Amino acid sequence: MPKPQRPSDSFGPLETSKQTFEALNGLESHLDQLLEPVKVDLQKILDRVGGRSFSSFQGNRRVLRQLLRLLDRLNLSLECQYPGCGKPARLWCLTSKGSKPWKFEFEHRIEGKLFRHYCEPKFPLLKLVRLKDEDLQRRGRPSGNES
Ligand SMILES: [Zn+2]
Repeated sequence: MPKPQRPSDSFGPLETSKQTFEALNGLESHLDQLLEPVKVDLQKILDRVGGRSFSSFQGNRRVLRQLLRLLDRLNLSLECQYPGCGKPARLWCLTSKGSKPWKFEFEHRIEGKLFRHYCEPKFPLLKLVRLKDEDLQRRGRPSGNES
């Protein structure tokens, strides 16, 4: 009967950069699979927050800060809800002079130029989007194809 394999047995020799890269890449795929149910639950929460706002600026900011922390950990972003836009965006909650003392804004770049879209006192629809490699690189993450 074969001995049950410990995870470290499946990595192979790790002698070349290619073997090592592939082992790390496999680990990342495994991590992505583990995180999938977290992403599903996060979207369920966001579906219930979109279109609402909480009663205070601090409350809205607190919820948003925790959301942004999670998005960063999961390498996810939010889809800008401005009609026809749909870019991955950062969401902010800022003080405002309007009827509500705060507003939400999507912020993202298009060809290097900064755009602010939405600007409403309620959370917009919150739709998770996966960041592409180029977006991750901008955040200082290396993406690997070299061997
Ligand atoms: Zn936009």
